[in-house]
Amino acid sequence: MLIDFHTHTNASDGALAPCEVIDRALARKIALLAITDHDTVAGYRAAAAYYTRNPGDMRLIQGIEFSCRWSGTTVHVVGLGVDSEHAAMLEGLAVLAKARCDRGKKIGSQLEALGFSGALEGALAEASGSQLGRPHFAAWMVAQGHVTDHSQAFDKYLGQGKTGDVKAFWPELAEVTQWIEASGGAAVIAHPLKYRFTRMKLRRLVVDFMAAGGSGIEVLSGYQSADQTTQLKRLAAEFEMEASIGSDFHRDAPYSPQLGVELPQLEGLRGVWERWAQA
Ligand code: MN
Ligand code: MN
Ligand code: MN
Repeated sequence: MLIDFHTHTNASDGALAPCEVIDRALARKIALLAITDHDTVAGYRAAAAYYTRNPGDMRLIQGIEFSCRWSGTTVHVVGLGVDSEHAAMLEGLAVLAKARCDRGKKIGSQLEALGFSGALEGALAEASGSQLGRPHFAAWMVAQGHVTDHSQAFDKYLGQGKTGDVKAFWPELAEVTQWIEASGGAAVIAHPLKYRFTRMKLRRLVVDFMAAGGSGIEVLSGYQSADQTTQLKRLAAEFEMEASIGSDFHRDAPYSPQLGVELPQLEGLRGVWERWAQA
């Protein structure tokens, strides 16, 4: 069975419109799909409206991917089955919208200082109403000929440790975890190996996350080795976390995961999807 609990639309930094993600998921016979755009549910809402008019056998779940601060770095938390009308989620969405706006202005002024004038306006035009992020700055820099491609923009100006890597505005891990859980959702640590933490530091993250009321962890995210999946399943078992899986699909590109992930062997772990899998 294919499921996918981590996907993006063009309401954040994905390439496909919400209706295209639904069509793609139906074509691939995905049983359960959560749309988890960065800091917005606009993509989910459009997808849900489209799916109501074009129904299939798939269960569609409202999700989100929040950025937050933990131990001096940025961590992503996926919320599954959230209620975006709940007061806690409304607060979270408002905080993140302001954080993205403030961060965008800061990235813009940092790039201006390097001589890239019009960076913020350019990135906003690239975002055209969707959640502003570094990929929009990258797209503008490519379009202007300041860099040859997206990865050069990140390597030189926007990636980890570079001028445009502005972290300070995200809320704390415990806050985003509580917004998700208070609204009835399941908070899940996204792509745990992407942060390149030591095993000790990853365990510290898990301890803090569970203390804040978190529910689960992605034991499988995009392309991953069997050893990595085993490591994450052990971590989930040790801390009695629910297992989640997702492609982190953004676009069709070479070496990028396609929508839909085959369920791995769970060896006694509880899948977070079991909350929605039953009729
Ligand atoms: Mn993204
Ligand atoms: Mn992420
Ligand atoms: Mn993601």
